[in-house]
Amino acid sequence: MRPRQVAVVSSTVIVAVINCGSSSIKADVVETRDGNRLARLRVGRLGTDEARARLDDEPPISLGNLSVSDALAQLLPQLFSRADGIEGIGHRVVHGGERFVAPTLIDDEVAAAVAGLASLAPLHNPANHAGIVACRKLMPNLPQVAVFDTAFHATLPARARTYALPPELASKTGVRRYGFHGTSHAWVSARAAEYLQAPLQELRIVTCHLGNGASVAAVEYGRSVETSMGMTPLEGLVMGTRVGDIDPGVLLHLMREEGLDVDALDTLLNRNSGLAGLSGVGSDVRDIQERAAEGDDRCRLALRVFCHRIRKYIGAYAAVMGGVDAIVFTAGVGENSAEVRHMVAQRLDFLGARLDEDANRDAKVTRTSPVAEISTPRSRCRLLVVATDESRAIAEQTAAVVRGAHHVERERTIPIAVSARHIHLTPASVEALFGKGHKLTPLKELSQPGQFACEETLTVVGPKRRIENVRVLGPVRGKNQIEISRTDEFHLGVDAPVRRSGDVANSPGVTLEGPPER
Ligand code: ADP
Repeated sequence: MRPRQVAVVSSTVIVAVINCGSSSIKADVVETRDGNRLARLRVGRLGTDEARARLDDEPPISLGNLSVSDALAQLLPQLFSRADGIEGIGHRVVHGGERFVAPTLIDDEVAAAVAGLASLAPLHNPANHAGIVACRKLMPNLPQVAVFDTAFHATLPARARTYALPPELASKTGVRRYGFHGTSHAWVSARAAEYLQAPLQELRIVTCHLGNGASVAAVEYGRSVETSMGMTPLEGLVMGTRVGDIDPGVLLHLMREEGLDVDALDTLLNRNSGLAGLSGVGSDVRDIQERAAEGDDRCRLALRVFCHRIRKYIGAYAAVMGGVDAIVFTAGVGENSAEVRHMVAQRLDFLGARLDEDANRDAKVTRTSPVAEISTPRSRCRLLVVATDESRAIAEQTAAVVRGAHHVERERTIPIAVSARHIHLTPASVEALFGKGHKLTPLKELSQPGQFACEETLTVVGPKRRIENVRVLGPVRGKNQIEISRTDEFHLGVDAPVRRSGDVANSPGVTLEGPPER
């Protein structure tokens, strides 16, 4: 009989990564082991007479007014001719809806499902779908994989993903929070953990992806538990041209008072707001910083609103996770603007986050040297600049699927073991519960060397109910620790995060009851 096997991607794989927007195409041929780019294509202004394409560092070529499919038909064979041994194509897909929570091999049905999600992402999914269709036609023999921007946030708990709308309406229409930029948030949190030499499963990280689109995520023990974008990429931070958070009452007001219809509101909120709307000089942070330094009031306010919103989210996410071990800045603005990082990091001392101004000014990250620390040595919460690399992340995930190892996502592997409910006690607690001088009585050896179940049992008393006869395990430890199931938690009326054995920080309180005194 053959043993069961899981393929693990060890050797390098060459993957073409395609990111099709409504007016642009970005494509890279990536070698997964080192993240080297073997070839590159950039196309802009598609759908206009000014459409241009650039292969590697060659001079741009004019394309004329072409559709995404026609542009791909013309350019992909040229891109592919520049790299031997391409084994698969990875497509960035913006919205995966409820269904797609992992990289998925594309067949006819999956391609149709991506198109079917257009109502949730009308600007993005149709373009992603057009790219998929064109590539499948051009390269029918290459496996193609969809990697979803929403997938990393599939772990958002119900309390974070639910809008306060009637549930029947929400489920009928798919209206809930999904979150985006997931590939980037996952990538930079994993790189931060590597840099900090700590398991991702032991860290609470706030990741700030600040590019043209911008979002913050709370990555608790390797899982996304909150993020600032919602059903669409319009919620949350102030962005290049998007408004981010706004009182929904404003929309009603503008409809009533200014007669704006759906399309006008769409254009206002997605294209004419954000940094561009506030500053009046466009969305590029470099230009806004320059004008602000010259004393332009609109630009100064634009930067202050932008940074204030980011800081507000960092504070909120520290509260959501009960603390924060690292704050990560990434993407065009996060990686390059010392000024924005400086403004955001003001007043974060209460979190133990202290910016080192010199390190901040000098921070430089690249794909080969992706992390720079910008906090002082005494900063309890570490401040990091991390270079994101969505193409490489998509290439790695595509390679894993192509080689048959679905779900090989290093940063999301959570080791688990099953055990019965039990209690560890400190020597002082043993005496407090069982009497002075009491020593635990071994009953049975456990599989972990040196560990044993004791004759002693205790009652756990929660705010709602109690559980009796919970076994004490020995030997004694440095901290009291109770390990119970989620169902036990509901029974007791407590809500503790899932985490590694031994980590008892910020635990909700319960009371332990020993035998009556004799
Ligand atoms: P996208 O969301 O399109 O991938 P990027 O992550 O590339 O965006 O970020 C683009 C933005 O990064 C630009 O709009 C620009 O404002 C900002 N940016 C790039 N370099 C700098 C810099 N040196 N200083 C400040 N902002 C910068």
